[in-house]
Amino acid sequence: MIINVRTSQGQQFIEITEQVKKFVAQEGLQDGAVVVYVPHTTAGVTINENGDPAVVRDILHAVNKLIPVHGDYTHLEGNSHAHIKASLFGSSCTILVENGHLQLGTWQGIYFCEFDGPRNRKVFLKALR
Ligand code: ZN
Repeated sequence: MIINVRTSQGQQFIEITEQVKKFVAQEGLQDGAVVVYVPHTTAGVTINENGDPAVVRDILHAVNKLIPVHGDYTHLEGNSHAHIKASLFGSSCTILVENGHLQLGTWQGIYFCEFDGPRNRKVFLKALR
């Protein structure tokens, strides 16, 4: 299954936990795992706190201190910072499913990570049985 994600900012975390839960229910997956895969070189996926929105704001703020938008980069497209961030965060997450439920911790949410938006993005979901 493919989720379409429309990002509205240059850099942005968008929570997709509910879409992944819906996919697990639609698949009737009881025990196994779901792979969340992002087929882009300037976006990624991560799991982190969804209780306080300040957390994802702080993650992006800190990442931009480590990997500034403008730096000593040579890639002609001018978005090297986004490629670097995408590699650091990674392009997939695997979440265990038990008794039909994602095995996420109380405060864990699944986030699509945009680093070179705004764009129309895709997220692939696959149930492993
Ligand atoms: Zn590029």
